[in-house]
Order: sequence, then C-alpha cells, then structure tokens
Amino acid sequence: MLVLTLSFSLPVTEMLLKTLLNFVTDYKGFRFGKVSFEQRGTTEQHVAVVLHPRKNSKAVCSECGKPCPTYDTAPEARRFEFVPLWNIPVFFFYKMRRVTCPKHNVIVEGVPWGDGKCTQTIEQRQFLANWAKRLSWSEVAECFNTSFGKVFRAVKWMVDWGLKHRSLDGVESLGVDEIQIHKGHHYATLVYQLDDGNKRLLGIEEGHKAEALEQFFDKFNEGTEGESLRTKKIKWVCSDMWKAYLQTIGKYCTKAWNILDRFHVKSHLTDAVNETRKEDVAKLKKDGREPILKKSKYIFLKNPENLTDTQAEKLSVLVQYNLRVVRAYLMKEDFERFWEYRSAYWAGRFLDDWCNRAMRSKIEPVKKFVKMLRKHRELLMNWFKSKRLSSGAVEGFNNKVKLTLRKGYGFRTFDALQTTLFQAIGKL
Ligand SMILES: [Zn+2]
Repeated sequence: MLVLTLSFSLPVTEMLLKTLLNFVTDYKGFRFGKVSFEQRGTTEQHVAVVLHPRKNSKAVCSECGKPCPTYDTAPEARRFEFVPLWNIPVFFFYKMRRVTCPKHNVIVEGVPWGDGKCTQTIEQRQFLANWAKRLSWSEVAECFNTSFGKVFRAVKWMVDWGLKHRSLDGVESLGVDEIQIHKGHHYATLVYQLDDGNKRLLGIEEGHKAEALEQFFDKFNEGTEGESLRTKKIKWVCSDMWKAYLQTIGKYCTKAWNILDRFHVKSHLTDAVNETRKEDVAKLKKDGREPILKKSKYIFLKNPENLTDTQAEKLSVLVQYNLRVVRAYLMKEDFERFWEYRSAYWAGRFLDDWCNRAMRSKIEPVKKFVKMLRKHRELLMNWFKSKRLSSGAVEGFNNKVKLTLRKGYGFRTFDALQTTLFQAIGKL
C-alpha cells in the first residue's frame, strides 16, 4: 500500500502557531522551534512542534527543581501530547537532557509541560479532565482522538492533585454511607462532609466493616495529633444503625453526637414493608385468592407524591383491603411525622406511641424494625439536638453515586471508581 508522506511548514502558519503556543504556555528556559503539519495518508495527521532549551538557561533536576549543570542530551526526541488544535493532534518533540544534581546524582531534567515518565503534557491532561466533567470518559476519548486509558489517567492526575491540595480544616459534620459496588457482596464505605456551605465527598474505602471506616479516619487525621486530631473536632456524625460503623465512630469521634440518618431509618422501614408484601403475595397464592398485589411493589416503596396516576389509583383500591402490607404501608407513612416535630419531648412521645402500635400490628418485619429502633432510641433522638442536620444530604449523595455507577464508565478497578466519584462529588 502506498503511504503518502507529506510534511510542510509555511512561514506564516508557523509564525501564527508559535504565537498561539506562546500565548497559551509559559515555559521559562525553553523556546518553540520548528512547527510543521505532518500527514501520512489521511488519518495520521498531526502538528509537530519542536522545543529547544533557551541559550544560557540551565536545566533543572526533575526531583528537586534546582538548576544543575547538564550531563548529556538524549539523541532522540521524546514525544509529548499537547491539546489538539481543530481536533488535529499536536505533539511536542524535545530531546531531554540529564543533569548532575548534587543531591540526586545524574538524573533526567524537569520540564514545565510534563512530569515523570508521562507522555501527556499537563495542558492536555487538564483539557481532557475538564471535558470528562461533562462527558463520559469514553466519549471524551472518542471526541478528542485519544484512548480511554489516557482520559482516565488525566482525570486521576487532576483528582490526585486536588486531594493533595484540599483543606480538611474546619470539618464539623460527617455523614457515613455504604454502597454496593458490584453484584454480590462487594461494598464501599463513603464519608461526606455535611457542613453548611461545604458538602462534599471526603473519602471512599473498600468494604463496609469497621476497618474501612478506621482506614478513613486514620487518613483524615494525617498530620494532626493529640487534642488537635481532626476526628476530635467533629461535632456531628450521621450514619446508619450498622454496629461496625457506630462503634468506630464512637472510638474516633469522641466529642461528636452520633445521629441516625433519616434516609437510612426510612430505608429500613421500607424494607420491612417490602418484606411484608412478599409474605402477603405468598399467602394469597397459597390460599388460592385473587393476586391483587400483582405489580404493586413500587406502589408501596415510593413516596406517595411520586406515584403515577395509575399507581395512585391502584393504591386507593388496595387500601380498602385489610392486607398486612397495606397496614405496614400506612404505618410507614405515619412514621414520617416523627421528623417534623419541633420539640424532642413530643417527638419522643410520638415515637413510643408509634412503636407500641407497630408492635400490636403483629406484622413480623415491622416488629423487627421496631426492636431495632428501640435499641437505638437515644441516637434517633439526637436528631432533634442536631437541628435536623442536612436531612437530605446523604440521600442526595447516595442517589448521585448510584447514578454515576449506573452510567457504567467501565470501572474495572476500585481505583477507577474512586477517581470518578471524587471527580463527581469531591469538589476538588
Ligand atoms: Zn535534585
């Protein structure tokens, strides 16, 4: 096959491109040399930009950044990817020098457009990472003629930089949640900051046992000790009733009030309603009765205001039957009142009354829920001390995380999952 190789540089175009590159970059000690448009066939076109060190400028050590004498210069130029121009790839070509550093011996020089062995310039990584906030990683790769891996590395680089430079001072309220990351028993523990004006993801750890949360707290405390440990400055932590979390929170956040999150309490009660529904469906079938509960699952799980017209109509029919699931559902809706109380005293009275009624219902899944509530009554009542701490925040984050996971950006690894979630809700 004949491959046509074309390479030309017009003086005017070259000047224009150099002006443009000088406008968008500021590489002290370097200058742009030959700029040319290379074309091989029709697909592999690119703009090649040669870089040179300025005369009398000293190379710097890539480790410590100090100017050092040059040891030697590589015979072959290294290629770096820059931001595409009219979607035509732009490559920098530069012959790396090695320097003699008093501290790091003979070492490769540092260049302002790159770091380490990465062949992507910092500008290109920023460019890709910014687009990855709006598009999926594969869309970014497709739009800008690059690979999924390069987009991922660009985002990861931005996220790592953000994590390194973020401030963890002044964090007073935390929310702890767990998510299932794959089918089966694969979980992650997520910790959020829930302070007014600063709500963000603070950490993700693999697993949902005590060790996962301990690992988060240890990282969170890094650089602080004794009485100034960050965990000791925490005033509020809201979490699920999960014993492993409660114990770990108690161990680390010794000065904090632990609150049960409204969202988690509700989801336990919703589970109880769903359990009851399943039992009722089975019982109707066993008794040979009409399957009136068919397609009713979401009617009982959704908030009433989110029901479709058809679902609302079906619900109004179902409540006329004396079914256990209907009673459980009505109790669930009634429980919502608990959160609306202004006075902790009256809320407590309501809670005890509700629990008594629920126990008398003789519906096993609901009774199980009541036992759990009674065991954690104190934590539940802390809600009223917290002045309704960020009631919807953990739920909002939980929905956002699920949505991000569903979009399926192809997380094969926990690292990729961490990177995506920090990018989406880490406020970096
Ligand atoms: Zn050095």
